[in-house]
Amino acid sequence: MSALILSGKEVAAVVRSEVAERVAALGERGQTVGLATVLVGDDPASKIYVASKHRAAVAAGMQSYDHHLPENASQDEVEALVSELNADERVDGMIVQLPLPEDLDGERAVELVDPHKDADGLHPFNLGRLLLSRPGPLPATPAGIMRILEYYGIETAGKRAVIAGRSFLVGRPMSIMLGAKGVDATVTQAHSRTPDLAGVCREADILVTAVGRPRMFDERFVKPGATVVDVGISRTDDGLVGDVDFEAVVDIAGAITPVPGGVGPMTIATLLSNTVALAEAKNN
Ligand code: NAP
Repeated sequence: MSALILSGKEVAAVVRSEVAERVAALGERGQTVGLATVLVGDDPASKIYVASKHRAAVAAGMQSYDHHLPENASQDEVEALVSELNADERVDGMIVQLPLPEDLDGERAVELVDPHKDADGLHPFNLGRLLLSRPGPLPATPAGIMRILEYYGIETAGKRAVIAGRSFLVGRPMSIMLGAKGVDATVTQAHSRTPDLAGVCREADILVTAVGRPRMFDERFVKPGATVVDVGISRTDDGLVGDVDFEAVVDIAGAITPVPGGVGPMTIATLLSNTVALAEAKNN
């Protein structure tokens, strides 16, 4: 039987309309909500991501402040812009679009963002709060995945979850969220040095792939009935391709996210929901 398709696009539409309602409610009290983006250089993928974040912010009723520095901008210029946005009352949430050009230090720029304006949930302060199960903006991609699982009623308690990939952006926070109290999956964090990766993945009731290798995860990696969440996005001659070989897996898995239309739309929706939550917190 073919797997249930977990449409991140559908869940993102729900989240975005919730965000729009919350933005409107703040508007009735005379408060605007502002999202600022910092883009450095001309990386085509980054430009596309930033443009979609702006469109989504505007559609949700937010003010969107687009800052674009040239490819040869210095670290000082980037940091001065981040400091300026930290001080700007109109800005509730900010993202520094990564990666920065090669000779700049993206991590340092992210650390300079005011943690109370950290729309991506990637500031060390907020990653620390996640580790402590304290409230705060959550890393957008794994938080979006949690919302997809919740929306489709995918049980996590008592399940085995395998996360392939251990980046601070996706893999590591995903492990923390799936293993958190109340979510209660038993988590294995796999990576490039995991022996018998296919065998490890085949033990998963929930398999999250965040590796960036097109169609690497085929039928050898998936247990019958498993939920497969494909985070990977690679640009190939065939267009955008996930880490999962969708055709090979769709009749084995119980549920699967497609690429595109799976995790990607949820990342942007969560960014907006983090931003409106930061704006709400400002007055509390
Ligand atoms: P990353 O920082 O490059 O991390 C990749 C991870 O995959 C690393 O932990 C690496 O292991 C592991 N890995 C690489 N090759 C492997 C292999 N052959 N077997 C097992 N593990 C392997 O990437 P990322 O930022 O996490 O992104 C991962 C993918 O998700 C990319 O395609 C990215 O474009 C996509 N992404 C999508 C969204 C979205 O919204 N859908 C958001 C963010 C990222 P080591 O640590 O051992 O090197």
